[in-house]
Amino acid sequence: MKFICIGRNYAAHIAELQHAVPTEPVFFLKQENAITRRNRPFFLPDFSQQVDYETEIIVKINRLGKCIQEKFAHLYYEEIGLGVDFTARDLQRRCIQEGNPWEIAKAFDGSAVVGKFLPKSQFQDVQNLNFHLLLNGEKVQEGNSRDMLFTIDQIIAYVSRFMTLKTGDIIFTGTPVGVGPVHINDRLQGFLEGEKLFDFKVK
Ligand code: MG
Repeated sequence: MKFICIGRNYAAHIAELQHAVPTEPVFFLKQENAITRRNRPFFLPDFSQQVDYETEIIVKINRLGKCIQEKFAHLYYEEIGLGVDFTARDLQRRCIQEGNPWEIAKAFDGSAVVGKFLPKSQFQDVQNLNFHLLLNGEKVQEGNSRDMLFTIDQIIAYVSRFMTLKTGDIIFTGTPVGVGPVHINDRLQGFLEGEKLFDFKVK
């Protein structure tokens, strides 16, 4: 199982990090041991001075697929949820500056929080879903999937040109504006269309 994470998929977030707007999806991977399961604590790593939350809609791949056409991409996932793509921002900046890969900033143990999944069938339109993050009870991130630069189906089509998608793979679809650092004892609660899908503390 692997995590495929889309970067730079919401215009306002691209602006806040002062990145260029991509013409094709940008993605990177996290490996299986990056997972933090729902409602388990996130352990702040000691190698970073700034670990940021990035709240993202996630989808779970439900069958094997390679070179999936966009018009069939909707058949490759049935469940949709919410997760956090934790990012060691200081290390990521250094990696970008030095032209190095991002793994130490993105793929460290525990960096992929996976919340509860909901059946896609309960929503009319997966490209019109509201989600938000509460940090210690205060709303710090808010987004809607309609603002994605690349839709879920476009992401599945694009990624599967390069690598086979397998049952159980999880796609992080990018974060909206409002990312920020976490500290020990912070509490993070994520909501998709008003339903709470994760609730955990930073330790
Ligand atoms: Mg992200």
